Amino acid sequence: MKPLFTSSILLLLFTSHVPPSLAYTPLSDHSLHRLLLLPPLPTTHTSYQDPDFDPLHGTLLAPILHPRVPGTPGHARVQHHFATFARTHLHPSWQLEWHNTTATTPATGAQQVPFQNLILRRDPPWSSSSSAPPKGGGEVARLTLAAHYDSLYRPEGFVGAVDSAVPCALLLFVARAVDEALTRRWEDVGEEGLEEEEKGVQILLLDGEEAWVEWSEADSLYGSRALAEAWEDTRYEAGSSFATPLEAISLFVLLDLLGAAEPNIPSYFPKTHWAYQNVAKVEQRLRKLGALETKPRKPFLAESEKEGVQFFRGFVQDDHVPFMQRGVDILHLIPTPFPSVWHTMDDDGAHLDVPSIRDWARIMTAFVAEWMDLEGYFGEAGAERVESKHSEKVEL
Ligand SMILES: [Zn+2]
Repeated sequence: MKPLFTSSILLLLFTSHVPPSLAYTPLSDHSLHRLLLLPPLPTTHTSYQDPDFDPLHGTLLAPILHPRVPGTPGHARVQHHFATFARTHLHPSWQLEWHNTTATTPATGAQQVPFQNLILRRDPPWSSSSSAPPKGGGEVARLTLAAHYDSLYRPEGFVGAVDSAVPCALLLFVARAVDEALTRRWEDVGEEGLEEEEKGVQILLLDGEEAWVEWSEADSLYGSRALAEAWEDTRYEAGSSFATPLEAISLFVLLDLLGAAEPNIPSYFPKTHWAYQNVAKVEQRLRKLGALETKPRKPFLAESEKEGVQFFRGFVQDDHVPFMQRGVDILHLIPTPFPSVWHTMDDDGAHLDVPSIRDWARIMTAFVAEWMDLEGYFGEAGAERVESKHSEKVEL
């Protein structure tokens, strides 16, 4: 991505702050505790290995921490890791969809380089999305969580740990962390209980974000440009709630450059400041509960109080742009300034701050759980709630 960029586009974005009419249910303190299903807090940060995010051994992160230039074997290995993870650790109702495209790049001449976005999607069980569009899926509004998995072409051997191996690993973590509660909620509430509300979740593991030679409109965002265009052109059946998969994105949350200590995440867009505030609130509450490991000088999301003219500051060019240009609501979770290792050989596993990553895992899991109304469906209480409902049905 490209650092801060000022544009008159911001004037257009400076419109209403009214959030969409989807329900958003804060989690109880009890559930927030329940969500901390990470291993106990370490006494020293040097003497433990996180099972998911340890740079050398973590099952989610370590398989991504090597060069992933599109069209190379390292890139294919990461694709395999994502698909294997989804099939072995997520509910079978998750759909895996590859969106494939090719393009030439200024570094590779006439050769067509393959770019492959992976979409992991889970819709309510009664939705029609088991059929492909135009027939299926047009009634579900999807919380869309995105990160890019390709790595820079040069310097050779560049790993891209914060850029964006860690954000990808975080998204896998979140999918797994909310999966069971989502199953329970949908079993419990059933089709009748959700007349006005059809919410799904999808994870976009995007390809080709990086420029191959120098950042420009043509040399960057290969995967996201192709996907936004394809989704704009895909129509659902007449009478669907949404006309296209693009319109069905309730919020596009893009994670990038996360994994270094002391991130400062600005609120970039007035239109989605309400969503920023929800994430910030989750962070505040978790900190208050003593549930986060890091003790930063200020919160990761410290701009909840921002308003009005303070927003005229520009934004970072990144995978959200092709979606934003088509009217999608964006929450961009990227630090400004960028981590000091950005686009250097030091952006590797050794320079990551694992406690910050674990805190991001907690914050994002809680935010997604609130968005998907999962209060009451975590842990034993959640299991009991669904079981007792089943036995009630039997007695009837
Ligand atoms: Zn980059």
